[in-house]
Amino acid sequence: EESPGGPSQKKVVAVVGGGLVGALNACFFAKRGFDVELFETREDIRQAKIVRGRSINLALSHRGRQALKHVGMEEKIVSQGIPMHARMIHSLSGKQSPIPYGKKGQYILSVDRANLNKELLTAAETYPNTKLNFDHKLQDWSAETGLMTFVRSDGSKEEIEADLIVGCDGAFSAIRKQFLRLSRFNYSQTYIPHGYMELTICGVRRSPDYIAWCKCALMGGTPAHARGVPSAGQEMNAMRAHVNSKWFLFRKHVDNLLHFLMPKTIIPLYTMVTFTRTRYHEAVERWHWQDRVINRGLLFSATGALLGGSYLLIKNPPDINKLLVPAEKMWSRLVDLRTS
Ligand code: FAD
Repeated sequence: EESPGGPSQKKVVAVVGGGLVGALNACFFAKRGFDVELFETREDIRQAKIVRGRSINLALSHRGRQALKHVGMEEKIVSQGIPMHARMIHSLSGKQSPIPYGKKGQYILSVDRANLNKELLTAAETYPNTKLNFDHKLQDWSAETGLMTFVRSDGSKEEIEADLIVGCDGAFSAIRKQFLRLSRFNYSQTYIPHGYMELTICGVRRSPDYIAWCKCALMGGTPAHARGVPSAGQEMNAMRAHVNSKWFLFRKHVDNLLHFLMPKTIIPLYTMVTFTRTRYHEAVERWHWQDRVINRGLLFSATGALLGGSYLLIKNPPDINKLLVPAEKMWSRLVDLRTS
C-alpha cells in the first residue's frame, strides 16, 4: 500500500540485484517513499549489446500480473505477451495431446524475459528517489551493521551502508551466503534430476518467498528458494513428472468436471496457483483436502459400481449356455489356427 506522506524519516533501502524481482522491488520501495539504491553486477542491460543470463521466455500468470498492476505496468507488458492456453504433450509415437491450463478462455502469457527486465528497470528509474548502480557486484556485507562491499569491473571497491538490504541476487545469492554464517540458520539444497538447455532456432530465441534477518531480507523466488521448473511455469509446483501419467490425466478431467459443477468448492491446484492469488500454503492445504475428498469419492463410486454390478449379476444370472457357445467357437478357431 502506498503511504501518502511516506515514512517520517527517509530510510535507505539497498536492493541488491537488478533482475526481475530486484527491479520490481525497487519500484515498490520507491512508491512507499524510501530512498532506494539498486546495485546490479551486470552493466545496464538496456544498453548492452549482448545480454548475459537466461533468455527463455517467462510464463506470466495472475500473480505476476497483479504485481505489475501495482506499479502501473500490467497493460504494457500484457499487450506484448503471447497467450498460452494449453501445454502440448508430444508422445514418442508422435501423437500430440494438449492439456489446457485452465477453463476455456483462461491462459497464461509468454513474455520476453529480457524485455520485462528492461521495462522494470526503466519503471524503477522514473522514481526520483531511486538510483540504479550498474557494474556493482556485492562481495561482502555485515548482518549487524548493514555495511556492504561492492567490487567493480575495474577492480575498485566501494563500501556502502543502508538501513535495509534487500537481497534479490538470484540463485547463487551473495546475500544468502552470508546468512549461512549465522547460527541457527537452516539451509538445504536439493537438485532435481533434470536440466534444461536453451536452443537458438532459426535466429529466434525464444513469487516469492522471503527470508528476513531485521538489517536484511532475502527476496524473490530465486534467492529465497531457487526453484524453477520450466514446464511448471511457476516457482513452485513441479507438475512436470505427472503430465504423461494416465491417472494424472484422468484426475485432471475429474477435477475439471467437479470444478465446473462446484466452482467454489473444488478448485484444481494449477488453477489456484496460476489464476488466483490464494496463498501458496493455503493452496497446498486445500489441495490435500480436495485430493482426499475426491479420491474417497472415486473409491466409493468404484466400490458402489462393483457391488451394484455383482448384485445385478446375482439377481439376473446370465444364461451360461449363451456364454459357452461363443467361448467354444473361439476355442475351436484357436485350435484350427494352431494346427493349420
Ligand atoms: P534473477 O532473475 O536471477 O536476477 C538476479 C540478478 O541479481 C541478476 O541480474 C544478477 O546479475 C544480479 N546479481 C547476482 N549476484 C549479484 C551480486 N553479487 N551483486 C549484485 N547483483 C547480483 N518464473 C516464472 O514466473 N515463469 C516462468 O515461466 C519461469 N520459467 C523459468 C524457466 C527457467 C528455465 C528457469 C531457470 C526459471 C524460470 N522461472 C520462471 C523462474 C524465474 O526465472 C525466476 O523466478 C526469476 O528470474 C527470479 O528473479 P530474480 O530477480 O529473483 O533473480
